[in-house]
Amino acid sequence: GVPSGPERTRIDALVSLAGLAIEHTQAREALARRTACEETARDIARLFLAAQDTDLDQAITTALGRIGTCLGAHRCYLFLMDRDGLTMRCTQEWYAPGIRPQRDALQALPVEHYPWLPEIAQHRQAAWLTAEDIDRLSPEEQQIMVAGDIQSLLAMPLFETEQLCGILGLDDVRIRKHWSAFEQRLLRLVADMISTALERKRLQQALHNLAYRDRLTGLPNRRAFDERLAAEIERGRRYGQVFALLLFDIDHFKAINDTHGHAVGDQVLQRLAEVILGRLRLADALARWGGEEFALLLPETAAVGGLRLAEQLRETVAAADFPGVARLMVSIGVTAFLPDDHSDSLFHRADRALYAAKKQGRNRCVLAAERAPFDGVPPNHLGGCPVQTPSR
Ligand code: GH3
Ligand code: MG
Ligand code: MG
Repeated sequence: GVPSGPERTRIDALVSLAGLAIEHTQAREALARRTACEETARDIARLFLAAQDTDLDQAITTALGRIGTCLGAHRCYLFLMDRDGLTMRCTQEWYAPGIRPQRDALQALPVEHYPWLPEIAQHRQAAWLTAEDIDRLSPEEQQIMVAGDIQSLLAMPLFETEQLCGILGLDDVRIRKHWSAFEQRLLRLVADMISTALERKRLQQALHNLAYRDRLTGLPNRRAFDERLAAEIERGRRYGQVFALLLFDIDHFKAINDTHGHAVGDQVLQRLAEVILGRLRLADALARWGGEEFALLLPETAAVGGLRLAEQLRETVAAADFPGVARLMVSIGVTAFLPDDHSDSLFHRADRALYAAKKQGRNRCVLAAERAPFDGVPPNHLGGCPVQTPSR
């Protein structure tokens, strides 16, 4: 049958009513999604505020997962520029269940393959690419789009002190998704949070380096070594762990400075640090102790082992090439931890042994007497000590 006039009126009314109900539900769902996204942004902000330098990587990975899930993406990832600014690499990635990860394939990517990068950096806006744009992309980027099944991609630039330093990106592998203005703003917000956290980490690292690193050689400085030594002494006392302490001093270094100039002297110090580091284990701690003196802590090494390594290091240095200098020689004082040792007594013995090595003609290693008299005076080449045959 055909609906009569009044029936049509009633149907029209019902259609309007159904339309209103649908619109209402959609608006409510959109509001709920938006509220959830805002809550996610707050969570991420809290996460970064609480994150220490050491767990920042984990915090970023968590944030990628939160923002990717909240925006219904299939991947969310961070690219950071390499130091030279010519390449970039994917440092972290989140992917939805069943989606192929891409990170390992996205390393050392030449920035020039992404000609849209400078433009989005200049306008501080996201790049939005879909599978339809593929013909406009570089062959390298096309390959990434295909390999990752990417239908739609949103890439937000990251800045550090106004310089482009990376990209925060989202992929959709199912549809050519429309990323709303709200979603783009949210991604911008998270990108800013990440770059702020990264900048804070870099500043803290720089401060730490200033306080704990020697600027010339990049080695830990005296302060850092003192802290490491105190920890090792504590372990020695508690668990009876032995360790060796070596003090190096370059032979006739003043003559190198006088003959070749201070700049060459500096290069020799840098190269010496390199040469010694090349022979050490990861757990060993080398520090620049003073002008042309280096201290080395060897965990789980007794006196004999310490002396043996000292001798190998001395030979390595003597055989190594140094800028402008035919041959470099070092003298080394060696000692090992004794149960009632403290930092001063250890250094006192090592320093006496070093002094003895110098006195016996330099370019040699001397193991300290186990019980050198300690008078409480800070070590400073106080007097000679006979060469000891290893007793432990
Ligand atoms: P010895 O064999 O007795 O150790 O003789 P030496 O010449 O090595 O010892 P001395 O203590 O007389 O001289 C150490 C020199 O190291 C003097 C100082 O100018 C130089 N020196 C200290 N720190 C630096 C530095 O950072 N760079 C350079 N180029 N020279 C340094
Ligand atoms: Mg010296
Ligand atoms: Mg010297």
